[in-house]
Order: sequence, then structure tokens, then C-alpha cells
Amino acid sequence: MTRRSAALFLLAPLPLPAQEADRLARLLQDILIFDAHIDTPRYFVDENYRLRDRHSYYELDIPRMREGKLGAVMFGLYAQPQDFPPERWLPRALETLEALHGEVEANARDMEFAYTAADVERIHKSGKLAAMASLEGGHLISDSLGVLRLFRRLGIRYMTLAHFASNNFADSMTGQPIHTGLSPFGRELVREMNRLGMIIDVSHISDKAVLDAVEHSRAPVIASHSSAKAIAPIIRNMPDSVMQVIGKRGGVICLNFHVGYLDKAAYDVYFRNRPARDAEIKAVTDQKPINWEKVRAIQRRYFEKMPKVDVSVLVRHLDHIARTVGVDHVGLGSDFDGISGMAPVGMEDVSKYPNIVKGLIGLGYSDPDIRKIMGLNLLRVLRQNEEVAKQK
Ligand SMILES: [Zn+2]
Repeated sequence: MTRRSAALFLLAPLPLPAQEADRLARLLQDILIFDAHIDTPRYFVDENYRLRDRHSYYELDIPRMREGKLGAVMFGLYAQPQDFPPERWLPRALETLEALHGEVEANARDMEFAYTAADVERIHKSGKLAAMASLEGGHLISDSLGVLRLFRRLGIRYMTLAHFASNNFADSMTGQPIHTGLSPFGRELVREMNRLGMIIDVSHISDKAVLDAVEHSRAPVIASHSSAKAIAPIIRNMPDSVMQVIGKRGGVICLNFHVGYLDKAAYDVYFRNRPARDAEIKAVTDQKPINWEKVRAIQRRYFEKMPKVDVSVLVRHLDHIARTVGVDHVGLGSDFDGISGMAPVGMEDVSKYPNIVKGLIGLGYSDPDIRKIMGLNLLRVLRQNEEVAKQK
């Protein structure tokens, strides 16, 4: 594959020459854009956020999804262990899952719930968005494999083994290490998820836990929303060596779009201001009913203090992963609606995915490779997990 240098691309991002603009238009006609991690469902529950309306805040709704040619989404359900008491974790996951199903049903002309890779293809071809569901953090199943099995019946197709804190299955990269990787129970969880055809998600967990999960999984794993540590050296990102292990076993690293994860300078400002920002937000959320507009205003004000990060930086992360791990092992996991509006310039919401396609064309990627990165790699891993489940 021939590619222009990233530097050249940064100097001359727009517009594309006529021939490449034609390619972009052709690709956008039927490309499957499949995002592995979008966190909108909490807003259905907390704020009565409705997907059919166009919004000037948050990152996903149906009008913008149509504009951005988004084809499939793995919606993330979560209850951050630091924000909710343990007795609220499971109910919160169930409430957001119920709200997601309700929202998909209420918009049946535009969306349909998908349970399999074949569903995703069929729904995409019919011109609708395929909605899937995932759980962010093993703490949400109350240490019960029976609860995990029920979640599978309810449509959950991947689970992140741990979130911001270590749990009984795995160490989090941001929590106290307690197992040096996966615990024996964590390995049992991996086996059960393989049996059920649920993808193991290794975002958020410690490097050692990722290696353990890959070693014990019979199916390829995903990192549903992780960026490259080689480009932005911050704790939440993934080193090349770990990404390569995931790739060797067929897995996919889906890129997180949070500007603080794409760019170290942006992270430093975010990290420095975080205690003050979180304290201001807490002062608002402590008052019931919560004034979400005020919360968003605080988030915006702190975001404006961060240096601007362009979509070309995001494309550089994708290119780095493709070069170091292979083009079959890169995907998208925006983390939209989980990043408090901290998105790159040119990739502000789901209406902007074509800018990534444009960026990849600019770097010299072929059409088949662009299709893989934008969605087919993730679809392949979903299908491989289904096949492993059939093997018993
Ligand atoms: Zn996350």
C-alpha cells in the first residue's frame, strides 16, 4: 500500500482532488460504519433524551447519525463504580438496557436491535441503524455467571472485563492491582463468555489482564475504546506490544476519540483541571432534580481550556495501529456520549464519520482497507465469536 506521509496530509487536508472526492462519495453509498462504543443510553434514563430529535449537544441522534452514514453501534451500558453504590450497579445496567430497547422500538423506521453479525448486515442493507448492546465492567453482573447469561439473552454482545476500578475478575489499568491480571474467576468468566458467543472487551483493564484474557480466550477479543500509547503516552492508552498480542489472535483495537486520549497536551490540561471541574459538576448533581444544562455548561467551559485537537490526529492513531498491528486489527470505538463533549475538531459528533474516510483516503488507504477499518474488522470479530460459541 502506498501512502502519503502524515506530515503532507496534515499540511493539505482539504479538499480532496476530484478523483478522490468521487471515491469518497462512492464509498459512502454503502460502507458499513460500525462503532464499538457509544454511551448514549444513560441519557435516555437520566434526561429523557430522545434519538428522533436533533440536538445541539451530546453526540448521537438519528438526524446526525443519518448525516454521518453510521450503520451500526454497540451501545455501552454502565454504572461507574465510583459514581454508584454497589446495590445500584445491576439495576442501573438493566434500566439503561431497557431504555435502549424502548428507544430502538420507538424509532423502528430508523433503527433495529441486532443480535448477530448477520442481523447487522441485514439491518444495514435495509437502510437502518443496527443497535447492539454491551456492558462496561464486570462489576455489573454482581459476580454471577447466571446474570451474565441472562444479559446475553437480553442482547448484550460484549462485556468490558473491568471499568475504572479493579473487580473480582480483573485488574483495571486505573485501579489498584489485586490479581496481577485476571483472577481464576476472571478466567472462568472468559471461558463462559466464549461459550455464549459474547466478545471479551479488554479496554480499561491492565496490560497484564489483557494478556491473560487473550491467552485464555478461544475467540478474538476487542479493545472497544482504546487509543495508542505510542502517540499519546497516558495511562488509559494501550502500548504497541499489547495491541500486537491482540492482533496476533485476530482481535481488533477500536479507537477512542476522546481528545485527552488522542493528545498528551490535551490530557495534561484535562488532568490538571479535573478536580476543580468534577467538584463544580458534583455541586450541581447533588441538587435534585439535576440541571443537566448546567452540567454541560461546566463541561464545555473546561473543554475550552484544552488545546484543540484535529481529526487528523485521530486518523494518525488509526494509521499507527494499522502500521504496527495490521490493517485487519483497527476499528472505531468513539466513546461518544461518554467523553463529555471532548471530541476532536472535525469529529464533533456522529455526523462527521465521513471525515475519517476522507482522512484515510488522504493517507493512501485502499477502499477494501478503509471498509475494514470503518466496520468490517469489528463485524468479523463478532462473527468469529459466534462461530466459537457453536464449537462447544
Ligand atoms: Zn470507558
